[in-house]
Amino acid sequence: EGHLRFEGVRFGYDPEREILRGIDLDVPAGSTLAIVGPSGAGKSTIARLLYRFYDLTGGRITIDGQDISAVQQASLRAQIGIVPQDTVLFNDTVGYNIAYGREGASEAEVAEAARGAAIAGFIERQPNGYDTRVGERGLKLSGGEKQRVAIARTLLKNPPVLILDEATSALDSRTEAEIMDTLEAIERGRTTLVIAHRLSTIVHADRIVVLDAGRIAESGKHAELLARG
Ligand code: ADP
Ligand code: ADP
Repeated sequence: EGHLRFEGVRFGYDPEREILRGIDLDVPAGSTLAIVGPSGAGKSTIARLLYRFYDLTGGRITIDGQDISAVQQASLRAQIGIVPQDTVLFNDTVGYNIAYGREGASEAEVAEAARGAAIAGFIERQPNGYDTRVGERGLKLSGGEKQRVAIARTLLKNPPVLILDEATSALDSRTEAEIMDTLEAIERGRTTLVIAHRLSTIVHADRIVVLDAGRIAESGKHAELLARG
């Protein structure tokens, strides 16, 4: 479940200026496809189209053969989890922020998701530092910890399709390295699009495409792309 295809996808925010100029992607269920390329190439736009923030101007996107434009938006979005670069959290407990991932989740499920993201001890803490146990003396969440909350939220949602949109780009390289194992663990068993700008963060991808000015300029495995320079 979760075989994702883009077939001849075209799109422009403005009809005068095409951003994606015929994108073909085939991401087998459970595999990871990484999209790299310069800023402005259209990487995030691909993610937005999959989540149906906008309608295509040409081509189609399918999940398991079904055109996403024919699926109810709510049910499409229930199938897709997104970890963005900067996650905006509520000024409430980490537990509350995780629970937002799926309505009706039990406390045990929230705790399990927190464990999966390696923030089991954080449930009562708040992003701004308030802690119900010690009041204002608590520690603020770091950037990496906030990303872990976003990961836990996604784990709770348990979507077959996952988008990591520059999920580690705002982190320093040490924090990024620490969070990579957790990210790779949540990718397992899900069809994943990883949007990145450093090749070093996508060594594990099954396939990498290089996007340039709205077209796929190159595609291959990590070692192949490195060999080609
Ligand atoms: P190879 O190992 O020679 O790349 P493949 O059958 O895996 O052979 O792919 C053939 C071509 O199809 C690739 O060179 C690539 O351009 C394209 N391709 C394969 N998979 C994808 C994908 N997931 N997204 C975009 N293009 C792909
Ligand atoms: P990337 O993720 O590769 O950096 P984006 O997909 O964010 O690229 O953007 C691709 C192009 O689309 C850029 O030229 C950008 O300025 C433009 N763009 C992005 N979002 C919008 C928007 N909401 N309205 C108009 N143009 C946009």
